[in-house]
Amino acid sequence: MNEVLLTLNAGSSSLKFAMFDADTASTRARMSGEVANIGRAPVFSAKDANGKALDKGAMEKLEAASNHAHLIAQLLQWIARRHGDQRLVAVGHRVVHGGRQFSKPTRVTDSVLQELETLVPLAPLHQPHNLAAIRAVAKWQPDLPQIACFDTGFHRSQTRLAQLFALPRALSDEGIIRYGFHGLSYDYIAGVLPEYLGDQADGRVIVAHLGNGASMCAMKNRKSVATSMGFTALDGLMMGSRCGTIDPGVLLYLLQAKGMDASTIEDLLYRQSGLLGVSGISNDMYVLEQSDAPHARDAIDLFNYRAASILAGLVPAIGGLDALVFTAGIGENSALTRQLICDQLDWLGVALEPAENDRNAALISAAKSRVKVFVVPTNEEAIVARDCRSFLS
Ligand code: ADP
Repeated sequence: MNEVLLTLNAGSSSLKFAMFDADTASTRARMSGEVANIGRAPVFSAKDANGKALDKGAMEKLEAASNHAHLIAQLLQWIARRHGDQRLVAVGHRVVHGGRQFSKPTRVTDSVLQELETLVPLAPLHQPHNLAAIRAVAKWQPDLPQIACFDTGFHRSQTRLAQLFALPRALSDEGIIRYGFHGLSYDYIAGVLPEYLGDQADGRVIVAHLGNGASMCAMKNRKSVATSMGFTALDGLMMGSRCGTIDPGVLLYLLQAKGMDASTIEDLLYRQSGLLGVSGISNDMYVLEQSDAPHARDAIDLFNYRAASILAGLVPAIGGLDALVFTAGIGENSALTRQLICDQLDWLGVALEPAENDRNAALISAAKSRVKVFVVPTNEEAIVARDCRSFLS
């Protein structure tokens, strides 16, 4: 009987899953899919390794379900029915925050789960859903090994300096430091960099993970040296509905002068800001690019202005720039975003080849560009599967 691994990536409004062979190092999923639009009208889709769509019947059943726990239970049943001839040997989860306690993939036990629960306030948009998925699997098959893979883990190669805030020492000592996120995505990109850059892969590279959540990571020797996100996934770039870096004085003003309470401010910063807040139209870059509304263009321009200035701020940490990599939904698909960011970086020696950029080619920089610019699709699931395999062996 074939042994397989399941990876789950439970987000605020989506649940992504993929199934991999347990005994090969393949980064290609046997099948993968997603329940999108959770909380509104969930839509299920799944495809096999060749991209062929699977199972319409199951899609209809899932559309009726409403909350995460219910959807996860249905998804697990669907997987069990559909893959009865394969033995599931482990489930790997993307878990956004590992805090100070967890930097390496970790087998989930009751006590690990309890510790991860204490990190919920640090990632309110993601961590509760990540943990709900773990609990749902434990209820379904209590003895099935579950491995938590952390988005914060990749950044633990950074120096202490890069991780510190300028706060009183006692607060840093208790763990109020810069953790960084999107580590599974950066880990994947670091692994495939030699295919694109050859010997230069170990040089000075900035990876821009631009999705609904967005961050950048400055790497040297394919290790994280500095990153734009900090204690929480709110920091750094402007995002779909998150504000990114903000003067902390604004928060004091909202609390003290406007009388907002903490949960109102949390909602404002995580869910009402970013592209959505500035445009007043959508958190979705594609939607904004299709719009003629001036506020949509304002949001796009601010996103790219902030991205270019944050990128420039990361360069000193690696002493220059040899290559820039765009990845994730916006990074892989939005030629406009890449162009607007790169146009602000010509002083750094960045020049795009417009035709290659327009067709989302792998290498999009011009021959004369001092910095090579690439579009590289990310694959966080492949990293979770890799970490599960090394755990099992
Ligand atoms: P998540 O952080 O939820 O995984 P993704 O990496 O899937 O997000 O990225 C979602 C973002 O990518 C959305 O803003 C979406 O509009 C954007 N996107 C996807 N395709 C395109 C495209 N062709 N043009 C512009 N933006 C796109």
